[in-house]
Amino acid sequence: MSLLTPAQAETLIEQHLACLPIESLPLTQSAGAVLRENVYAERDQPPFDRVAMDGFALSSAGARGDAARLRVCSTQAAGDPPQALTDAAGCIEIMTGAILPRGCDAVVPVEQVQRDGDIVHVRKPVAPWQNVHRRGSDCRQGALLLATGTRLSAPEVAIAAGAGMARLRVSAQPMIVVISTGNELIEPGEIIEPHQVRRSNAYGITASLRQHGFARVADDHVRDDEAQLTERLDFHLRTHDVLILSGGVSMGRMDLVPKVLEKLGVNLVFHHVAQRPGKPMWFGVSQAGPAVFALPGNPVSTLVCLSRYVLPALRAAMGQAARETPRIAITASFEVKAPLAFYLPVKLKTDDWGRTSAEPAPTNGSGDFTALAGTDGFVELPPGPNTYPKGFVARFFRW
Ligand code: AMP
Ligand code: MG
Repeated sequence: MSLLTPAQAETLIEQHLACLPIESLPLTQSAGAVLRENVYAERDQPPFDRVAMDGFALSSAGARGDAARLRVCSTQAAGDPPQALTDAAGCIEIMTGAILPRGCDAVVPVEQVQRDGDIVHVRKPVAPWQNVHRRGSDCRQGALLLATGTRLSAPEVAIAAGAGMARLRVSAQPMIVVISTGNELIEPGEIIEPHQVRRSNAYGITASLRQHGFARVADDHVRDDEAQLTERLDFHLRTHDVLILSGGVSMGRMDLVPKVLEKLGVNLVFHHVAQRPGKPMWFGVSQAGPAVFALPGNPVSTLVCLSRYVLPALRAAMGQAARETPRIAITASFEVKAPLAFYLPVKLKTDDWGRTSAEPAPTNGSGDFTALAGTDGFVELPPGPNTYPKGFVARFFRW
């Protein structure tokens, strides 16, 4: 059987991932969450004829002519119930945000009048509805303001508050566990021998998850030992929604992850994708529910597979509406040798005309993660052998 393409792998993941449950959150905790209900306008917006300037509310008919003199009858602040202007040759001192008093249809800003005790001199003609934000002119009561699937950032949270929602129904945060495997791996801060390697992947994965708004992220490390791997993975499968493993999925004798996962009842969906780096990626779904992403251990492969497959899958599981992957032109030609999709790390640049392009930052192989410093993500180049010219447009994935 020929290898899966990245697009096929992506589709298979989508088809096998269950949607996460819904929870209700107070508005103050909802930033970054994915909305799972529609939010409608509670009232017309603005909800009343809203005064838009500090000044004097009046009847435009009563202020005809170039030099109207009007008597200030009263004062009405924002939040006060509406007063009524009974004298067409009068006005009401008014504040921004107040409801327009009855009998008035315009506001003259305080900067544009001369006040002399109880009398204001209006020197410019007054147009009906000037400086009044008319009721319902932004939207009508019942209008759809936020659709399910929207990720909530500052404007959306403000809109929900404006619609009177104290709590929102959003996707529950998945319980994720990041599991590194490998006897050679040593924690940062601990003494390391020449033949050992820092356990960097788990930190990279966790950082990415947190940066993308996933808050419930646990972390574990397991040695290349079948009994220990079986025991730990069994525990994690029973306690988490998503397992993200790194290492142990290649063809070596110590690459025990696929075998142990299948023994624990995780059904293989695919193993290997026609891509470089990251070809040995493994994905399966447990009968009990959890999804398992087992990523190759080489640090560039791990981060590429995470951004290419895991983050979009987690967003989809949270019900987030799919967004187009941006397409960006590369600033230099690049040769892809193997007949595999190639993930090329890039730095984004913006030119004087505001156009963004991707400057290749090739690594020295899939183990060379030091070359990733300062990169923004990577582009997906089609399989080779081929040289893709400067200006070639490719899909861009952000770290
Ligand atoms: P593996 O996929 O287990 O065969 O690992 C491939 C390469 O990635 C080996 O050189 C490992 O030492 C390295 N590697 C595996 N896991 C990690 C990790 N968590 N952090 C850094 N390097 C790792
Ligand atoms: Mg290993």
